[in-house]
Amino acid sequence: MPWCVRKCPYCDFNSHAAPEDLPADAYIRALVADLEQDLPLVWGRSVGSIYFGGGTPSLFSAEQIGVFLSAVRARLDLRPDIEITLEANPGTIESDSFSAYAEAGINRVSLGVQSFDDDVLKRIGRIHGQHEIQHSLQSLKTAGISNFNIDLMYALPGQSPAQSRHDIELAIDANPAHISFYQLTIEANTAFAAQPPQLPVDDVAWDMQQAGLERLEAAAYGQYEISAFARSDMQSRHNINYWRYGDFLAVGAGAHGKVSLPAEGQVQRYVKHRHPKRYLRALDNGDWLAEKRLLSSEERVFEFFLNQLRLKDGVYIDDFSARTGLPWEMVESRVQQAVDKGLLVMGHKRVIPTGLGWRFVNDIQQMFLP
Ligand code: SF4
Repeated sequence: MPWCVRKCPYCDFNSHAAPEDLPADAYIRALVADLEQDLPLVWGRSVGSIYFGGGTPSLFSAEQIGVFLSAVRARLDLRPDIEITLEANPGTIESDSFSAYAEAGINRVSLGVQSFDDDVLKRIGRIHGQHEIQHSLQSLKTAGISNFNIDLMYALPGQSPAQSRHDIELAIDANPAHISFYQLTIEANTAFAAQPPQLPVDDVAWDMQQAGLERLEAAAYGQYEISAFARSDMQSRHNINYWRYGDFLAVGAGAHGKVSLPAEGQVQRYVKHRHPKRYLRALDNGDWLAEKRLLSSEERVFEFFLNQLRLKDGVYIDDFSARTGLPWEMVESRVQQAVDKGLLVMGHKRVIPTGLGWRFVNDIQQMFLP
């Protein structure tokens, strides 16, 4: 869902400032038509999760989200315990919206809080403040959605370690099932890249990270991925599927998909047209795809390790052949090198990062570069 109220200065996602007359109904029609032409990629398979991301999906009404979900239900086999997440930003939710979204089928929400401090939020160009955050949290409570995530950033412009710690306390007080805690990075082609703000120096950012990790662990939010923390059994199933190098369909402007083709022993990646106007034109001409290609064996190896090594549980050996179509022997010597360097240890059917390996995950990932 590629629109936001306005573009945040640090954002490099495919998000566009929403026009006053958002073509929401046409966009939902486009999503359904787009999904239709992807169906042959997954005949006979069932769906474990759906994720409305963006952009700001909560700019769409619960009714519009419901129309799309009904169309999905009519076309695909959804597992009974399916996880259906809506990304939402405080300041874009009507007073009773989360109840309406829950009625439409949403059973998990990811809330883009980023910070609880009004000044810090202003400095990163967010449209919301404390008041809107509390409003959204109250709305989640009223809707009975306890399975929600709070997105929280640290090392923000002008943020002190005390402010970062305070943000974490307020996030924990809200009792979410999941917290994503990650450092602001300045990406190319953003307003912040053109005019960089003053950020906390590296040592201070490191201290913020360490303090955050310790506090989250103490509050029973177990780290299961580089930036993801969850109460037991409340990990994001959708994201775990990405990180386990599972398959996913891509529906929507700029969406990226990845599907394995077991009969051919191949993995296909594809991308839909990025700009919403270009994407919507496909309603008339049926041309949704911006790019489609098969991955080479070395690309599959790298992508597999890049993703699986993000998880603290490590790399599942049985997944390797199932997800890449390649024999484990192809990577055995590289795995052994990482073991010899003390970065990985062999476990039962998996290879696990050591404490040292977890701190230098990038170095292990690089060992699997094509
Ligand atoms: S709300 Fe999120 S997706 Fe939208 S511009 Fe800001 S950071 Fe990007």
